[in-house]
Amino acid sequence: MTDPAPDLLELRGVSKHFGSFRAVDEVGFTVRAGARHAVIGPNGAGKSTLFGLVSGTLAATAGSLLLDGRDVTRLPVHRRVGLGIAATFQHSSLFLPETVLENVLLAALRRAGTGTGFGGRRTAGARAAATARARTLLERVGLPTRHDVPAAELSHGERRQLEVAVALATEPRLLLLDEPAAGMSPAETERLTKLIAALPEEVTVLLIEHDLDMVFELADTVTVMHLGNHLTTGPPDAVRASAEVQSAYLGTTEVSS
Ligand code: ADP
Ligand code: MG
Repeated sequence: MTDPAPDLLELRGVSKHFGSFRAVDEVGFTVRAGARHAVIGPNGAGKSTLFGLVSGTLAATAGSLLLDGRDVTRLPVHRRVGLGIAATFQHSSLFLPETVLENVLLAALRRAGTGTGFGGRRTAGARAAATARARTLLERVGLPTRHDVPAAELSHGERRQLEVAVALATEPRLLLLDEPAAGMSPAETERLTKLIAALPEEVTVLLIEHDLDMVFELADTVTVMHLGNHLTTGPPDAVRASAEVQSAYLGTTEVSS
């Protein structure tokens, strides 16, 4: 018998209140190391807010977050990046006037700057290594010929590919993807799905996605949220069959996207 994979991320009763409104209300579940874990739920369920709590762009009102057993609840974003949490956001955070390559390079150098020893210094060698890495990542996400184009000139789908490369440049252990396929054509969605499926197992993926075909193709675990609450976490087939989940989606059009 093999031991089950350890938990990389644990959420314990995590809440985010905006005034009296509970956008995320005592949510608890775990993400196994190496998982392809999707978070689904109707609009307004609290999915993006939950990601903000994990990445550190939002401070939790209550509860705690553990990465590898270490409490990261109060750590600022850059410390969490240093520990291996990377996110792409529903609203892009690219440097639009900079080139595609420069966007990835900046992220790779930021990561090197958080390391210890030689990696921490921005030497010419470090820059050359980061450039080589950035080129490899751009190839991996499907942008091998767009290095010198300003990010502002990319199509919507290409921007989302670039965001994934930027996130990967920080060498994450936990990659948070918030609706990466939003606005993509079917062909772009397919390419992105393949890219995510091909990520090494050292990268644990937590994915918010509207496109349930993509979710059920990629995910080995699915969490369902509804109105700020955690409804269920389990294997895709069990989640799909759950009456509670179906009733949460009833009256919305999202389930058939
Ligand atoms: P999802 O990503 O599941 O669609 P969100 O996490 O974006 O949902 O939002 C959950 C709820 O919290 C929504 O009702 C939204 O309007 C509310 N909300 C999100 N951010 C804020 C904020 N900064 N201030 C007040 N309410 C917010
Ligand atoms: Mg959202």
